Amino acid sequence: TKTAFDSVERTYAMIKPGTFEHVPSIISRIEESGLVIHRLKSARMSEEIAGRLYKEHDGKSFYPNLMKMITSEPMCVMELRGEGCVKRWRDLMGPTNPETAKRENPRSLRALYAKNITYNAVHGSDSSSSAERELGIVFGDDGKCPLRSTASATPF
Ligand code: ADP
Ligand code: MG
Repeated sequence: TKTAFDSVERTYAMIKPGTFEHVPSIISRIEESGLVIHRLKSARMSEEIAGRLYKEHDGKSFYPNLMKMITSEPMCVMELRGEGCVKRWRDLMGPTNPETAKRENPRSLRALYAKNITYNAVHGSDSSSSAERELGIVFGDDGKCPLRSTASATPF
């Protein structure tokens, strides 16, 4: 059944590897901000899914490290919903480089929790069309999530 909530803006978010101990704080910040966690799964990225997700960066100098980082350990994948959530979540995350984040937005999640520019704590789609693409890859267009949960030993 369709509800009014189905037309609310959505975005794709990740609490990336290396950030496990900060998951509770990050969840709290999401809830305080008024964004709604519509779906959340603890899962590990396979090379295949990671490659599709980060296709735009294939060939860049940091791509191999990005692939290594994102497949390195289990993490939280989420669908967030709320009016303007693409931008609101990006604002909460802060700039890609944590040094910039510390200067420009010291309360942002990357300023607080990123280890470095590769292990930079969180991901958020950069537009609504990216969000739809990324949510489709990770949660499945048919609503069947292709990711294996962390209960399984093998990456999804
Ligand atoms: P964002 O995650 O802020 O949208 P990008 O889409 O440009 O940033 O990059 C995707 C991810 O690739 C970043 O979050 C970061 O983990 C990694 N990355 C980006 N730029 C660099 C870089 N110059 N050196 C190392 N890793 C990078
Ligand atoms: Mg990006």
